[in-house]
Amino acid sequence: ERLVSPEKETTEQLIEKSLRPQFLSQYIGQDKVKHELSIYIAAAKSREESLDHVLLYGPPGLGKTTMAMVIANEMNVNIRTTSGPAIEKPGDLVAILNELEAGDVLFIDEIHRLPRVAEEMLYSAMEDFYVDIMVGQGPTAHPVHFPLPPFTLVGATTRAGMLSAPLRDRFGIISHLEYYQEADLKEIVLRSADIFATDIVATGAHEIARRSRGTPRIANRLLKRVRDFAQVEADGIIDDKIAARALQLLQVDEAGLDYVDQKLIKTMIELYGGGPVGLSTLAVNIGEETETVEDMYEPFLIQKGFLKRTPRGRIATGLAYEHFGYPYE
Ligand code: ADP
Repeated sequence: ERLVSPEKETTEQLIEKSLRPQFLSQYIGQDKVKHELSIYIAAAKSREESLDHVLLYGPPGLGKTTMAMVIANEMNVNIRTTSGPAIEKPGDLVAILNELEAGDVLFIDEIHRLPRVAEEMLYSAMEDFYVDIMVGQGPTAHPVHFPLPPFTLVGATTRAGMLSAPLRDRFGIISHLEYYQEADLKEIVLRSADIFATDIVATGAHEIARRSRGTPRIANRLLKRVRDFAQVEADGIIDDKIAARALQLLQVDEAGLDYVDQKLIKTMIELYGGGPVGLSTLAVNIGEETETVEDMYEPFLIQKGFLKRTPRGRIATGLAYEHFGYPYE
């Protein structure tokens, strides 16, 4: 398991639950998204209607699931949660739709991975709140009209471009979650430390925040590991020195890059003269899926200015050479 992977670990789920903000007022950062949503939520509530369907997109670990739950809490409705890969056949989706009550939130994580037939079923469900289910087989097969209560679909995906146009068009609200600012991550670390009842000083929170790849899930994970280190190696109080020592031991560097990021950039520089090099070639070199590199590693490296996309492939920037101590000409 990569320490800085933004993907969920299984053991993490219980802890995540206790760390999750419940309402917009507790949700740190993402001010633009919060502001817009707060207006739509207030308007829907005053009209006593269900909220329009919401698409949340952005890299993993930025708070999409959390935001779906916050929306349900703010609307004062129940939330049902599923994911694209969990729905294998249309019947799976019908079973979930069947449980919805008026106004409820249906959260579908990784919505771009819904099977085609299920996706098509969502079109009428989202637009007019019904589904047509085929009953029987062969010549006796016929559609049965199945009305649904008004509900709010909240879909999450890493890239909005991965959704088909007909599905994307059915979302009234499309919100892009961005990597978090250091100051916001610092606040998240302090809040989590408070929930864990861990002693931390501001400099310690800052050190963890700036190495967290702009991602709350990673900030919380680093905090947990640093806390262990502080307990065993020091007096339990997390300051910048303890945090830096712990993170160095965990091979998370000054910029928040771990050994996979480091390997990726070093491969580009050492084997391909800094590029351009194709994405799939890079993926093979570091032993990862192309999609994983594209969704999880690359966006952060681009944002940090270490890597650039060009029509001919990926290139390592002067900043990357400098960061890793290679001469750049
Ligand atoms: P995603 O669904 O985008 O992968 P999650 O919603 O599961 O991400 O969030 C990952 C973790 O980060 C959760 O444990 C959550 O508590 C924390 N988190 C996410 N966003 C925030 C935020 N804005 N403020 C505080 N904690 C957050």
